[in-house]
Amino acid sequence: MAMLTCPFCSALFRPDPAGPRDAAVCPECGERVPLGQTGPNPHLAPPPPEHRPNAASRNAMLIEQTAKRYKASILKAAAFTVIAAVLAFAFLGIAAATECNDWIIGTGICSIACLGGMIWFIIARTIAWWHHG
Ligand SMILES: [Zn+2]
Repeated sequence: MAMLTCPFCSALFRPDPAGPRDAAVCPECGERVPLGQTGPNPHLAPPPPEHRPNAASRNAMLIEQTAKRYKASILKAAAFTVIAAVLAFAFLGIAAATECNDWIIGTGICSIACLGGMIWFIIARTIAWWHHG
């Protein structure tokens, strides 16, 4: 007798010749398999594509991760700009309080750093926009 595929557990087995003629009992799961109704059970079939993590959803996840990377970069740039601006004003305040103009150098350096942070922010924002709209 030909091999049968259990529709319940997909086990391949040979029906017992001593068993009933119209059905075979699967040795794996013990289900009665009516002869002539073999092959994969539609209920055991793989889920339809929308329930499987397909290429599109994987791609969406990647985009999300990339977007987070850009957002982190934008946040870092913004934080850097703010800190540089605060330090520039702090150096200006110290220069005014101590009447020592050497502190102005600090203000100058922090102003340049602040400007750099702004440029970094704009570039990061532009890249994020370019990739994700
Ligand atoms: Zn079975």
